[in-house]
Amino acid sequence: MDRLISITKPDQIPLAYHDTPIGLLLKYHNLRTPLDTYQQAQLLIGMCMDNRKSLRIPDNFAYIIRAGGANLRYSEFKVSYAIAVGRVKCISLIGHNNCGMVNLATKRDAFIKGLVENAGWDREMAEEHFMHFAPKFEIRNEVEFVRSEAKRLRLRYPKVLIAPMLYRIEDNLLYVIKEG
Ligand SMILES: [Zn+2]
Repeated sequence: MDRLISITKPDQIPLAYHDTPIGLLLKYHNLRTPLDTYQQAQLLIGMCMDNRKSLRIPDNFAYIIRAGGANLRYSEFKVSYAIAVGRVKCISLIGHNNCGMVNLATKRDAFIKGLVENAGWDREMAEEHFMHFAPKFEIRNEVEFVRSEAKRLRLRYPKVLIAPMLYRIEDNLLYVIKEG
């Protein structure tokens, strides 16, 4: 928790995010300010595919890419599209606690058994699938991962403002991740 900044009042929003779509996202979702009307996307949100999370944001406000662990490494073309064609200037990268992509290796047996039983796969094919992809998607810690992913994206898209955040599933609020 010491690496997280909780936002329950407007003055807790970090200065760097004032008057930006990142600040607006925090106001809409955490502070429940009235939703404005948008004709054009202001923001790209990268968040986990996990079912336990939903955001309170206006229509048309954001592009959203959902991928396990908020890992955008394999969604780069979509990120580029939102920036180039969608003209968004900010990315909010939202990890969450209790993420299924943490310690993926411990879910190996359940994953393989589940693919065999629920999808009709051969056991061998399911094992190979897990062995091939698990290392690409496994993350060790939700907060550290989102911080490192934010750093990577800043190098890749230097003119874009990138904000690492954590969604806590206990209170459904967004927390800004401290950096530096
Ligand atoms: Zn997750």
